[in-house]
Amino acid sequence: MKVEAGPEDRLREFFRSFKTEAGEYRYRKRLAQVAVVGARSVTVDFEDLISHDPVLSREVEAKPDEYFEYANRAAWAQMKIEDPEYAEQVKRILARFRKLPEKTHLRKIGSEHVGTLIIMDGIIVRSTPVKPLITRATFQCRKCHKNINIDQAGPLMKRITLCPYCRSKAIEFSEKLSTFINYQELRVQERPEDLPPGQLPRSIDVNLTEDLVDVARPGDRVSVTGVVRARQEFIGSKGRLRSFELFMDANYVDVVGKEAEVVEISPEDEKKILELSKDPWIHRKLLMSLAPSIYGYNDIKEALLYLLFGGSRKTLPDGVTIRGDANVLLVGDPGTAKSALLQYVARTAPRGLYTSGRGSTAAGLTAAVLREKTGGMVLEAGALVLADKGVAAIDEIDKMRPEDRVAIHEAMEQQTVSVAKGGIVATLNARACVLAAANPTLGRYDPYKLIAENINLPITILSRFDLIFVVRDVPDIDLDAKMTDHILTLHRRGVTPEEPPIHLDLLRKYISYAKRIEPILSEEAEKELRSFYLKMRSVSGSSTESPITITPRQLEALVRLSEARARAFLRDSVTVEDARAIIRLVNVSLQDVGIDTTTGKMDIDIIMTGKSKSLRDAMSMVRTAIADLEKETGTVEETKLYETLMKRSGLEEDDAKKVVSQLLKEGIIYSPKPGHLKKTTS
Ligand code: ADP
Ligand code: MG
Repeated sequence: MKVEAGPEDRLREFFRSFKTEAGEYRYRKRLAQVAVVGARSVTVDFEDLISHDPVLSREVEAKPDEYFEYANRAAWAQMKIEDPEYAEQVKRILARFRKLPEKTHLRKIGSEHVGTLIIMDGIIVRSTPVKPLITRATFQCRKCHKNINIDQAGPLMKRITLCPYCRSKAIEFSEKLSTFINYQELRVQERPEDLPPGQLPRSIDVNLTEDLVDVARPGDRVSVTGVVRARQEFIGSKGRLRSFELFMDANYVDVVGKEAEVVEISPEDEKKILELSKDPWIHRKLLMSLAPSIYGYNDIKEALLYLLFGGSRKTLPDGVTIRGDANVLLVGDPGTAKSALLQYVARTAPRGLYTSGRGSTAAGLTAAVLREKTGGMVLEAGALVLADKGVAAIDEIDKMRPEDRVAIHEAMEQQTVSVAKGGIVATLNARACVLAAANPTLGRYDPYKLIAENINLPITILSRFDLIFVVRDVPDIDLDAKMTDHILTLHRRGVTPEEPPIHLDLLRKYISYAKRIEPILSEEAEKELRSFYLKMRSVSGSSTESPITITPRQLEALVRLSEARARAFLRDSVTVEDARAIIRLVNVSLQDVGIDTTTGKMDIDIIMTGKSKSLRDAMSMVRTAIADLEKETGTVEETKLYETLMKRSGLEEDDAKKVVSQLLKEGIIYSPKPGHLKKTTS
């Protein structure tokens, strides 16, 4: 009769005999490899264990503490066969389990999981430095010179005060003879994309030991296998509460790499995506599907579309990388849907995060070293690090903290965040595109001032944006009527007036799919971009007053935006049409900030005001005339104004009317009743 084998033997059998479909002894091979590289642990794919012995796999999940010990011993026993010398040398091999078939949602971890093995996904938001953790404390008796070993577990160190051999109190702790392992604490938070709408992210602390320390950094997305534990909460020195706090002891940490896409695309999805890309109206359809509830803003929406697709990141032979992500800034009057657009993009992006300039974590926008309640230091990731490989939509960026003002320079160009403080030195990845919105310092955008004077952001940050758009709220009868209809329909019927041709779900998949393509510049596209850049350079280069300096950064921006446009068509080559469309968009943006590339020469007035000198002179003349006449009559009759202007400076009525309509449009003057004008008091 066959005797039922114990758990350790069954695990040993697994290590010894598990074969892949190709007939390879997977774990014998892995163990041999462990010895070759001098590692301390062997990774076990949980699926293998399930297919080998489903009962055993369930037992590991239910009683991990007990079964980890069996698994470690079984792995070591098999190591003695694969490489006896190495087995003797290391004394212990740890079994680390990964790829559990069912993931537990971080938000759902609860008391029912305590003591069991689970796997969960998350993003690391903070980490402590690596510290030694004592596992066996050795005490020496100074009288009888005996060593006493005490195995350690739990948060507090167990000590002895009396020698068990001679009852002496002369006991000394010896750190030299004690055993330590490496130890680190992480905090893992729900991934932004897993967050239910309107909820704050939850997090759980995870303890790492031995070869798991330092495998992941704040900002990294991880799958953690581990045992859920509960620890008692304290209230100061008063005592322990009845409530416990959940945490995890990690058994394995899988850093989720590039290959793991956030958005899963099924073969049917792929078919739909490819079909869509062949639609002659694809570009238009994409545009119409982006923020359909927001009326107008076609240029801005086009820019946001390219931001979502992005260009490809390039690593040069010398290791320098050039970002592929485009950064876009919206500056403008309140109530112009800036925040709404940002939120929309954050929701559409496969990995999007919306935050205000102040940041929603203690680390603000970038990263910070913070002091914990216990006195230790922790490194905490901010919004840009958490948005790694995604979109960081930063609203009210002008209100960011002074620390972030410094750090954001590095984040927006090198796409890293470096911290060196309190003994923690780290460089974190922040490969995110930044979509930012800023409000003018004085409430409204003043077109008579430079952009840098309008918003509380230095040129050094402004120049890191590929495109800047100024959104002004100027009354316009036609546009206002259409927008009013749009917004009222939206409110009355709860749907957008025009059905978006591509549903949000599919749009997100389309973007995700397109991001795999690395388009190459065609020769004609390159020529087009080169000549435009050189023109921009010559137009702005001579002036020190330029609101934005035209530097090679703008050339890179042209390239990455053109690549993004090619991706929108799922093309692997950047065509001359891509280049031209981007040049048009860049021109719109430059004109918004006050550079006119079409005139071919730098008109200082265009920089200052966005208008030519003659128009500005005329506007100022008409304003003065109205102010003068107002003093006499209160409101100004239009006919009287035209007479005065003709007499004073020979301005023809037709021209004067144009200037008046411009002043009306900009809200500098208004018409209290037909045929009368008045200056807006400001
Ligand atoms: P901002 O952040 O620019 O101050 P918001 O995004 O908060 O403005 O917009 C205020 C409100 O006005 C939002 O509800 C927005 O949807 C609406 N709104 C403004 N402009 C438009 C527009 N062009 N189309 C539709 N809704 C708009
Ligand atoms: Mg806003």
